[in-house]
Amino acid sequence: MMKIAVAGTGYVGLVTGVCLAENGHSVTCVDIDEDKVALMRDGVSPIYEPGLEELMKKNMEKLHFTTDYQQAYKDADVIFIGVGTPEKKDGSANLSYVYGVAEQIAESIEKDCVVVVKSTVPIGTNDKIEEIIKSSLKNDVNVYVASNPEFLAQGSAVKDTLHASRIVVGVEEEFAGKVLREVYKGFDAPIIVTNRKSAEMIKYASNDFLALKISFINEIANLCEIIGADIEDVALGMGYDTRIGNRFLNAGIGYGGSCFPKDTKALHWLANFHDYELKTVKAAIDVNENQKLKLIKKSRKYFDSFKDLNVAVLGLTFKPGTDDLREAPTLVNIPLMLEDGANVKAWDPVGAKNFKKLHPDDVTYCETIEDTIKDADVCFIFTEWDEVKNFDLTKYAELMKTPIVLDGRNCYRLKDAAKAKVIYDSVGRESIN
Ligand code: NAD
Repeated sequence: MMKIAVAGTGYVGLVTGVCLAENGHSVTCVDIDEDKVALMRDGVSPIYEPGLEELMKKNMEKLHFTTDYQQAYKDADVIFIGVGTPEKKDGSANLSYVYGVAEQIAESIEKDCVVVVKSTVPIGTNDKIEEIIKSSLKNDVNVYVASNPEFLAQGSAVKDTLHASRIVVGVEEEFAGKVLREVYKGFDAPIIVTNRKSAEMIKYASNDFLALKISFINEIANLCEIIGADIEDVALGMGYDTRIGNRFLNAGIGYGGSCFPKDTKALHWLANFHDYELKTVKAAIDVNENQKLKLIKKSRKYFDSFKDLNVAVLGLTFKPGTDDLREAPTLVNIPLMLEDGANVKAWDPVGAKNFKKLHPDDVTYCETIEDTIKDADVCFIFTEWDEVKNFDLTKYAELMKTPIVLDGRNCYRLKDAAKAKVIYDSVGRESIN
């Protein structure tokens, strides 16, 4: 059992803290947000992530939540950094939160410890973190900095952490590697040990490759529409090739979330900074920007303006299983509809609460899909929640004023849409009119 502190209680920090407690460690989770800390002390997760709150409640004896970083860091064996690294205006990563924690660690620690960087940080940042800590240490102690990038996906974060595809550990000295092996004893995952820069690169290269795969299939989908092929069949046929694999071949209106958009831009920025143009990553970014507006462009086939149209929106989050709205396609699409005069009704099982903070008055939030689509002139599907995928298609025809369904996530089979007599337009497939 080790004494562990985790800085940041977002999707990465909190899930890491809870899973480490589940594996027997004593974990203090630190955040600057007092409201979040108060909720967590009551056993309530401030974010939606399947299974997280239950696991948190189960391990409350081993979990502590505080804003008092000094108390948390001073005698910790290991301190994880899991704070955000959002995008700056120029596309580079904002490292101020990470460096802020490094300074707090330097002023707090009273014994030797390993600082583990879980946040996604550009190649070379771990060196800088080590420099910051070592140059401002208050006490005479040894600090070892290790890179340990996180690969969890929102919506399955607990499962992804307890049964990770791999645990990547980037170290410059043997000792940190030994401590991390001890921390992760009991986790069901292979451990890959590299140097720090390679570990930092593994994270960006993995995310950017997945973003590229999505943008690639989206471009093929766009071409399928033009030439009359069907992207679902094409993806199925491609996926059987084990060199390609069948995951991340779902065509749609583009990736969103807190990682792919910023991690593609940050690596592209970093490459440019070193006078190298990452052309494939740039292409993924550009394709995704256009793809986000695909449904709005398609809708021009059916009407010239949104003025006074009743628009139903199903799904607000960037993907199912999360309440996170960061870079969700709805954030650009819904304002365009509203500006053009639409009456927007929206449904999302967990994301509506957060969307309401951004659009409290100009969007009507419904509890059911039926209420959302009732009397609508058009329905947009932005997130493939199970409730949407399992929804009885005939109800669109029954409840909508005009049953035009524009599906950005290919939730239905074309033959079912045709049978249900809806006008159905999806991505990379024939339109059903
Ligand atoms: P988040 O924005 O959900 O959470 C960050 C938290 O850090 C916030 O609660 C914030 O209040 C807190 N914080 C800021 N400064 C702090 C400080 N000095 N001390 C303590 N807490 C502080 O972020 P996230 O989505 O969990 O992402 C964290 C990092 O992990 C990012 O670098 C991200 O790229 C990476 N990552 C995220 C995911 C994901 O799916 N969200 C997956 C893999 C990697």
